[in-house]
Amino acid sequence: MDFKPALSRRDLLAASAAGILMPSLAKGAFRADRKRVLRIAHLTDIHVQPEKGAPEGMEAALQHALAQQDKPDLIFTGGDLIMDALGQTRERTKTQWDLFTKVMGGVKIPVEHTIGNHDVWGWGKRDVYSKEPEYGKKWACDVLSLAKPYRSFDRAGWHFIVLDSTFMKEGSGYTAKLDDEQFEWLTGDLKSVPKETPIMVVSHIPIVAACPMFDGDNEKSGDWVIPGAWMHLDARKIKNEFRKYSNVKLCVSGHIHLIDQVVYNDVTYFCNGAVSGGWWGGDYQECTYGYALVDLYDDGSFENRYVPFGWKTR
Ligand SMILES: [Zn+2]
Repeated sequence: MDFKPALSRRDLLAASAAGILMPSLAKGAFRADRKRVLRIAHLTDIHVQPEKGAPEGMEAALQHALAQQDKPDLIFTGGDLIMDALGQTRERTKTQWDLFTKVMGGVKIPVEHTIGNHDVWGWGKRDVYSKEPEYGKKWACDVLSLAKPYRSFDRAGWHFIVLDSTFMKEGSGYTAKLDDEQFEWLTGDLKSVPKETPIMVVSHIPIVAACPMFDGDNEKSGDWVIPGAWMHLDARKIKNEFRKYSNVKLCVSGHIHLIDQVVYNDVTYFCNGAVSGGWWGGDYQECTYGYALVDLYDDGSFENRYVPFGWKTR
């Protein structure tokens, strides 16, 4: 098939390579007298479990973020808060949520949670768990005190949209996409935001990213393959919606346990690694245990950098 990519391969690779080192300055220049209004610590893919020192690792990441000399005002978790609930028993799932709640309990600044695929209970064993009252996203929503797995709110002059990336796939497993109800809600929410108010979007699975190309042995079949579970399958629909609003500034995600930065249609997408590195078993490719610090400014500009917290694999 003959087609022209809107973003060249060179641009993609350059954007990806620049991810860790350079502050992102989409939309060109920022105001010289801009003021920072919010510093966010974005901790994604914590994957807490009793093994491999994960609770201590989670605690170390939080303490590292909270002990920054220039402290974050709030924490965003990016989903996959626990190792896995998709195919786990009630007991195992409870153990993980109890650990998560216990470690988070020590945090005294505001926390905004995102739900990831591994936080969904029982979709991997539907015949066993689908009749349980906490089946699916209910358990995670209850633990995190969320009325719904997606929402939006305003803070410090910015508008925040937290999406629910995990869509139930027929048979078993999941696809990264919004269901019709959530997509309709998103279009309405975007429309309702005054155009001077900058918008930041948080999703567990990237809407647009370069790093899924390097997940697994992607190209071994002789083609690049991006599964619908690795990047939003409805990315085209979502980016078309974003295109209507110049105040959509940045999107942050996790899920891939890799770090990148892609600027597409003037929206910057950051995939922010993983607190758990390679699921607490070491680094995952180039990505070590870490979290991101996201600075937001009153002129709609922002900076995002990945911060390793020095965890040693146990
Ligand atoms: Zn995930």
